[in-house]
Amino acid sequence: MQDTLPCQKNKILLVDDDRIILKAVSKLISQRLSLPVITAENLSETQKCLKKERQNIGLAVCDYHLPDAEKGEAIDFLLSHNVPTIVLTASYDENLRESILDKGVVDYLVKGTPNIVENLILSIKRTLKNSQTKVLVVEDMPVDRKIIANILKNMLFQVVEASSLREAQKILKEDPQIKLLILDYYFPEEDTLEFLYEIRRIYSKSALGIIVVSGIVKTKMIPVLLKAGANDFLRKPFSQEEFMVRVHNTLDLIELIQELEFLAYHDPLTGLYNRRYFMEEAPKFLSIAKRRNLNLACLVIDIDNFKQINDTYGHEVGDLVLKDLAEKLKETFKREEDIVARFGGEEFVVLILYSDKRAFIEFIEYFRRKVALTPLNLQGQNISYTISIGGALELKNSLREMLFIADNNLYKAKKQGKNCVVV
Ligand code: GH3
Ligand code: MG
Ligand code: MG
Ligand code: MG
Repeated sequence: MQDTLPCQKNKILLVDDDRIILKAVSKLISQRLSLPVITAENLSETQKCLKKERQNIGLAVCDYHLPDAEKGEAIDFLLSHNVPTIVLTASYDENLRESILDKGVVDYLVKGTPNIVENLILSIKRTLKNSQTKVLVVEDMPVDRKIIANILKNMLFQVVEASSLREAQKILKEDPQIKLLILDYYFPEEDTLEFLYEIRRIYSKSALGIIVVSGIVKTKMIPVLLKAGANDFLRKPFSQEEFMVRVHNTLDLIELIQELEFLAYHDPLTGLYNRRYFMEEAPKFLSIAKRRNLNLACLVIDIDNFKQINDTYGHEVGDLVLKDLAEKLKETFKREEDIVARFGGEEFVVLILYSDKRAFIEFIEYFRRKVALTPLNLQGQNISYTISIGGALELKNSLREMLFIADNNLYKAKKQGKNCVVV
């Protein structure tokens, strides 16, 4: 997911009377998040900034004590203008903390705590992600539902509400964007445990997070709920801050699992499928092609003299060439039935169904020519490169056999002088 703010509101307003903090944090935000920052040293500057830039400000990070606003008036001002605000303060006072969170700020961070700068960056990043994340609150009591929905809205989430499990199920089916469920335990006529089992038959823990929130669950039910598929459990009444932290923890964990799942089957440099995915998925294509009597081709594509590209321009440019070819492959072999994978190094493999053999060979030839004629443009410099393609166009009994033939043909293409197709 991209870290972007909604609409054009991509600027971060940083308010602090300490110029060193302003300078250091703005530098870090622009470096690490590539977002523009505007700064203000006190309330009156904050007011001026807002007058001028309200349309562009998506998020504020605001100090509690300012010379002309000793009691958090700058925060009140920002919130009254609907600017989502992260509070950064030197005070660690429990009552103050509660009262600041009650105002409806996005987050509350204490200066001087370990890793504070890192945590601030994380908090901004999360907040930006929240604005793109949908959460469903499932609770039959309107008052409780509203309290939870409001906290989530303050955290900038897109919030959807349901008052029964049946309604929740319907919403989930219709809206695949929902990433997290905040689930009450007790519903008058419905079985939450059964609901959890049902949901987990459809969505894995990394596809949909579930936090059960309830006051009436018996302690021995908690492990049962967690085993049934809840990612976390929180007892009511809860502190707002604990709720916020648990929501973020669950989403962080889901994201981490998704990243691992992605890396298991994809090449991190190009985003294409990796060899493992190809070897696991491709045999299915073979059986489908056999059953339906379709033509299946396996192409092995290798960049010519790639070592020389690395030696001439450096490894980083080499990486960009790999990404460039990956994009061209994706654009060209984009039907759902095509598999494009990076097999390793500068070698790519494509598995593709085709109908007419002659037209298909022309198509491969067209692709080879297109790569040779469309150099990668890097800041005005054209990096030209070519590819050789070896293909197996007849359906064989095994994938291994087809890869062997394609590989052999690639070898022939290289021997013939590269930048050519042998099938
Ligand atoms: P040929 O035309 O015969 O294919 O020659 P070649 O130079 O393309 O092939 P060779 O196998 O000699 O060299 C491949 C090079 O690819 C060597 C290796 O360092 C480089 N390489 C492998 N993986 C990567 C990568 O991820 N990034 C970059 N930049 N280079 C890589
Ligand atoms: Mg209830
Ligand atoms: Mg090569
Ligand atoms: Mg090679």
